[in-house]
Amino acid sequence: MTMIAANLQQVRARIVTACTAAGRDAAGVQLLAVSKTFGPEAVRAAHAAGQRAFGENYVQEGLTKIEALADLRGELEWHCIGPLQSNKTRPVAEHFDWVHSVDRLKIAQRLSEQRPAHLPPLSVCLQVNVDAGANKSGVPPGEALPLARAVAALPGLRLRGLMAIPEPAPDFEAQRALFLRAAAVFDQLRAAGIVLDTLSLGMSADLEAAVAAGSTMVRVGTAIFGRR
Ligand SMILES: *Cc1c(COP(=O)(O)O)cnc(C)c1O
Repeated sequence: MTMIAANLQQVRARIVTACTAAGRDAAGVQLLAVSKTFGPEAVRAAHAAGQRAFGENYVQEGLTKIEALADLRGELEWHCIGPLQSNKTRPVAEHFDWVHSVDRLKIAQRLSEQRPAHLPPLSVCLQVNVDAGANKSGVPPGEALPLARAVAALPGLRLRGLMAIPEPAPDFEAQRALFLRAAAVFDQLRAAGIVLDTLSLGMSADLEAAVAAGSTMVRVGTAIFGRR
């Protein structure tokens, strides 16, 4: 077994344990393997071990990898999870399956317009900034509902849910409390009638707290591929 296959097995076991602790069905949490900074061979090894969904932060790096793995294109799902500038939306709309980091209507409109007609709508999550004060990307929770309504109406996109990257917290409960802020926005949008199925929360260090808060997709890099 390769190191990557063994790591994947461990991460999947962590998800199952976290789901059991939270009284949740493990089938309700998907694993997104974050392959940023690792080459196409690492993705091939993970694919050979049964992994299908991969996350990339940097558009050019992701495109190069998608191209290098064109032979597997039908079996891989590519997620853009990094900050997205408006001059980079076209290749993302053309080559990725998901974007997790939409936090402005302008970006969403461009992605929708640029999504090729022969492809299914691009799945998108709105990134929510749940750390008041931190100068990070993400829509403030109070502005998520109008943005969600506007994005849900765009024909080239399919609004799937929310993503958040809270600051690291000192312990499990503090981390869970931050994730719960994103879960509260998720519940609020659903209560307002917006159809969502994805809460993208949790990374290598904090996936257990994210699962405890209701995450349906954890984004894991280091614990699968090693240190960057
Ligand atoms: C890098 C990254 C991850 C993975 O982080 P690890 O700590 O390596 O698991 C997840 N989400 C985003 C948005 C990232 O940039």
